[in-house]
Amino acid sequence: MMESQIHTIHQQLVNKEISCTKLVQERLDLLKLNTHNTVNSLLDTLALASAAKVDAKIESGQEIGLLEGIPFGIKDVYMVQGTYTTASSDLLKKYKSPYTATAIQKLFAAGAIPLVKENCDSFGHGSSSENTIFGAVKNANNPNLVGGGSSGGSAVNVAKDYTVFSIGGDTGGSVRQPAGYNNVYGFKPTYGRISRFGLMAYASSTDCVGPIAKSIEDIRIVLNAMSGKDIKDQTTYPSETISAVTISNTDAIKTVGYFKNFIDNDAIDTKVKSDFLATIEKIKAKGIQVKELDFFASDTLVATYYTLAMAETASNLSRLDGTNYGNRIEGASLKDTYSITRSENFSEETKRRVVGGNQVLSQGFSDEIYLKGLSVRDQIAANFEKDFHQVDIILSPVTPSSPPKIGDSLKDPLAMYLSDAYTVGFSLGQLPTLTVPQGTETGLQITAAKNNDALVLKFANFLKDTI
Ligand code: GLN
Repeated sequence: MMESQIHTIHQQLVNKEISCTKLVQERLDLLKLNTHNTVNSLLDTLALASAAKVDAKIESGQEIGLLEGIPFGIKDVYMVQGTYTTASSDLLKKYKSPYTATAIQKLFAAGAIPLVKENCDSFGHGSSSENTIFGAVKNANNPNLVGGGSSGGSAVNVAKDYTVFSIGGDTGGSVRQPAGYNNVYGFKPTYGRISRFGLMAYASSTDCVGPIAKSIEDIRIVLNAMSGKDIKDQTTYPSETISAVTISNTDAIKTVGYFKNFIDNDAIDTKVKSDFLATIEKIKAKGIQVKELDFFASDTLVATYYTLAMAETASNLSRLDGTNYGNRIEGASLKDTYSITRSENFSEETKRRVVGGNQVLSQGFSDEIYLKGLSVRDQIAANFEKDFHQVDIILSPVTPSSPPKIGDSLKDPLAMYLSDAYTVGFSLGQLPTLTVPQGTETGLQITAAKNNDALVLKFANFLKDTI
């Protein structure tokens, strides 16, 4: 538990080695001065007022909870009442949330302190955090490289210690991929474990709330705080709290699988491949049985994911026409108003997806494209089910290659979509998946069957001591 920042800071607060106000002010200053473009807006007034309350509580001798006074960041797609929620878009540049997302509300209830709304790809559309009106997010390790996306600002803030943890959103890899690009942990829980209420919808059938942090223990703590059934999101289910003890005994894991075609592939970097295979050897040396598994070709996964994600985002974003939300631009007629408002305020990438998605859903095409996409998705889910009868865990790289230079992925959207090859399948399967900063330059992804989130964390604990 040594490496848990939450436990360490909690102890410092309790022992009065640091005041919460000082802690929060220091992190706010770091965020304000940072040159990685991670900040869309600072929540300084709210943060300092909350910190003062925590200090008063400690001064008066009251006990504080583990998350109380811990500073964190929020991807700018979550509603936080009274704050700007822009989705990094021109359309919602001046939009203020009328209510607070359930996941964030639960963290507030536990006393965690929000510092910042974090830069990301607009509406979650992207894999690099360059598709934003706030300037491209720069990688924590090398500012010439992208921060990853879409939750790039969140991953960079954690990597640079500007926030203790951050809450990203993962539709097709947006927590796991930037976590990999910046060498931190990023978890996409089982779909439905955490309420999506108040998370701006991208593709509702795969959208997940996901914590990013520097240790497995901190991921566990934050995950527990946010999980649970919510009547405002009918896809949520009740889940048991995962204890530290449950995930520390790693004996239960006997078999690990990996998709051979992910690795025997021209698209994968030779170094990512050899590092991944070296990891597999280390796992075998620990007495774990490793099985090679067959899976869908990565371009099939990417095609299926983007077909469905575009369809869902076209539908979800249709409400953003300037009538009820956002920056309305008046045209000659109502139809013109819709058209100008959306044309001027959506990014190129968002428009590409809205046009693509409406095509997928339109009469005459939807049977052939949308329904086909749904049927392939069912086959993918069935394939996972079969695999998890054979293995406890599936291990994979997070990305086929290292982070691109800023500017490069904007030139070729198709190449950007294909770089999501290893993350999108698990999203379609709604499975729990964790990026750990080990094994390859951009980390490893640990996946288990639905609702086996604890097993994922358990295997992460095993890997931490194994490789
Ligand atoms: N890069 C993927 C996409 O653009 C995933 C994004 C996400 O998970 N929000 O759709």
